Amino acid sequence: MIYEIRTYGDQVLREDALKVEEINEEIVEIVENMVETMRDAGGVGLAAPQVGINKRIFVIDVEDGITRKVINPEFLEYSDEIVEHEEGCLSIPGVYKKVKRPARVKIKYTNEKGEEVVEEAEGLLSRAFQHENDHLNSTLFVDRISPVAKRMVSKKLQMLKKETLKRQK
Ligand SMILES: [Zn+2]
Repeated sequence: MIYEIRTYGDQVLREDALKVEEINEEIVEIVENMVETMRDAGGVGLAAPQVGINKRIFVIDVEDGITRKVINPEFLEYSDEIVEHEEGCLSIPGVYKKVKRPARVKIKYTNEKGEEVVEEAEGLLSRAFQHENDHLNSTLFVDRISPVAKRMVSKKLQMLKKETLKRQK
């Protein structure tokens, strides 16, 4: 099942997601639907709040042969080195801006089989882990861009918010 992707201005994107207490059939189904939704939208990552589900789950596919299904993630380490790279978001269509983030991360999470996974990541995968995890803490990448960049996209964001609120009526 393909979920509707919630867009900028939707309140669910600004709520902290809740920990998954038990990995049951419902959770497995949500994860599978999220993978389907991400593929359909052509994204490299999708977090549960983006489809209106207030749970600490995200999926990532950076085309390295592994589709990551991440439940209750926790960062164990961040590198001191910071890198800047352009980001976009399925919930903020048409907006792409540079964001500074730690180059490498070490992350721990539970997968859809209930197994604990610890991974070290760099490059696009590291960035995707951080971007998606932000969604679980009600943070969007546009919160992390420079003030100048923010001014450049403020009109576009206002417009998106208006469209989102109109659709919800
Ligand atoms: Zn996003």
